[in-house]
Amino acid sequence: MSREELAFQRARKAFRSGRTRPLEFRRQQLKNLLRFMTERKKEIADAVKKDLGKSERGTELFETLGCEGELHLALEHLSEWAAPRPVERTLLTLSDQAYVRPEPLGLVLIIGAWNYPWAVTLQPLVGAIAAGNAAVIKPSEVSSHSAKAMAELLPQYLDQDLFPVVPGGVGETQELLRQRWDHIFYTGSSSVGRLVMEAAAAHLTPVTLELGGKSPCYVHPDCDLSVACRRITWGKFVNCGQTCIAPDYVLCEPSVQSRVVDEMRKCIKEFYTENPQSFEDYGRIINQRHFQRIVGLMEGGTVALGGDCDEKDRYIGPTVLKDVSGDSTIMKEEIFGPVLPIVPVSGLDEAVQFITEREKPLVIYVFTQDKKVIQKMISETSSGALLANDCLVHFTVSALPFGGVGHSGMGCYKGKHTFERLSHMRSCLIKSLHLEPVNGVRYPPHTLRKVGWARLLLLQVSLRRVRRLTMLGLMAGLAAFVLRRFLLRS
Ligand code: NAD
Repeated sequence: MSREELAFQRARKAFRSGRTRPLEFRRQQLKNLLRFMTERKKEIADAVKKDLGKSERGTELFETLGCEGELHLALEHLSEWAAPRPVERTLLTLSDQAYVRPEPLGLVLIIGAWNYPWAVTLQPLVGAIAAGNAAVIKPSEVSSHSAKAMAELLPQYLDQDLFPVVPGGVGETQELLRQRWDHIFYTGSSSVGRLVMEAAAAHLTPVTLELGGKSPCYVHPDCDLSVACRRITWGKFVNCGQTCIAPDYVLCEPSVQSRVVDEMRKCIKEFYTENPQSFEDYGRIINQRHFQRIVGLMEGGTVALGGDCDEKDRYIGPTVLKDVSGDSTIMKEEIFGPVLPIVPVSGLDEAVQFITEREKPLVIYVFTQDKKVIQKMISETSSGALLANDCLVHFTVSALPFGGVGHSGMGCYKGKHTFERLSHMRSCLIKSLHLEPVNGVRYPPHTLRKVGWARLLLLQVSLRRVRRLTMLGLMAGLAAFVLRRFLLRS
């Protein structure tokens, strides 16, 4: 039996033991994960530094803080999330109990990506644990130092049978995908997403696909460009542009383009100094393959800012390209690097058309003072999310479901949404063996009279409506009584 199948079998057996069912057990595992995040901060930061050249504080801000937030939220709300949720009853279920009971799905496979190797792997895990599942964790082999640290350290904190970490590359992931999971939670590229879905289909396993794509950023001429460009510069160049929700390209009118370039020049200098290569808060490209890919995408473009590269150091400086046409090479795939093309458009209408002619993105950014511009962008386009006048920060709002649509993914997570995504919402209707005469309407022979009664009872006459009608009836009765007794007499 392969190592992957062994991990699968052990996790399956551990889940069947039923020990994930009590909320107290889940709480303990969540607390252990929180302790791991606190006690192993240094090891996590060292691994991310080696993988992506990120500073220790950068890792805290963009990797671990979000996981800690999710853990605190789950610990605070677990009882409420896991409690049965009563539903509205009908006339036919008046004396019954009707509720939805969140239940664990079973065994979840979590496949992580390399760009935020801890955040995108551990945040789904928080929901998997909270929902009472077992989960096999497959970190991305591309961020090899983080994967190694995760495989070594996490089992020291979590139940080893229920939550094993299985490191390895494509072969190992494929072996894992051959097993019969109850849910697969995948973060990564759309091409591998297709393979994941194909493997899942063989067992009718549901999937969550957190994919990428080209997220546009429209800058309307009316906005405060200095503030807008600070936020766009930050959103684009954090983690060297290797962020699934980074603004992939800017759309703006030609008259706005040169001002955007000027503002970004100032911001890049302010955030990363004159020499980002030697500045600790500017990272590196994950590997040579991606370095070559990004450099290739820049070829033929008109560099307005940056453009400097150092292959040995996997360094590409913050780069802005201007006058980019919609059919150029760089506009054909997700950039996933520190290069920001500006595509001139004639205005809002053309920006909307440009966006809707392409695959639905993970997020659309729009910068404007005008609410009507925001509303037009919302109502005439589709995307996983829409964020006006800022970048990336919608990911920090746990109440907002995070995920894509169409080619940018399916299913969503964060906070309670992860809990629900990885739960089975079981419908429960508990009837008694009394009131049998009411059931006469459904038993043969099906007379006209019975059908009449069935129509009355079944046509979604909700209890609330019945209560409202009863209340109206009572009030009318009371009014009639008062009128007759006191007013009409005098
Ligand atoms: P990747 O798809 O190459 O790797 C992700 C995982 O897939 C790894 O664990 C890897 O082992 C596995 N994998 C790779 N090739 C495989 C194959 N042939 N068969 C089976 N498994 C395979 O990672 P990537 O594509 O370089 O990640 C970047 C992408 O992820 C970008 O498109 C980015 O936008 C997206 N992303 C999305 C989110 C999100 O939350 N939506 C977050 C981070 C990254």
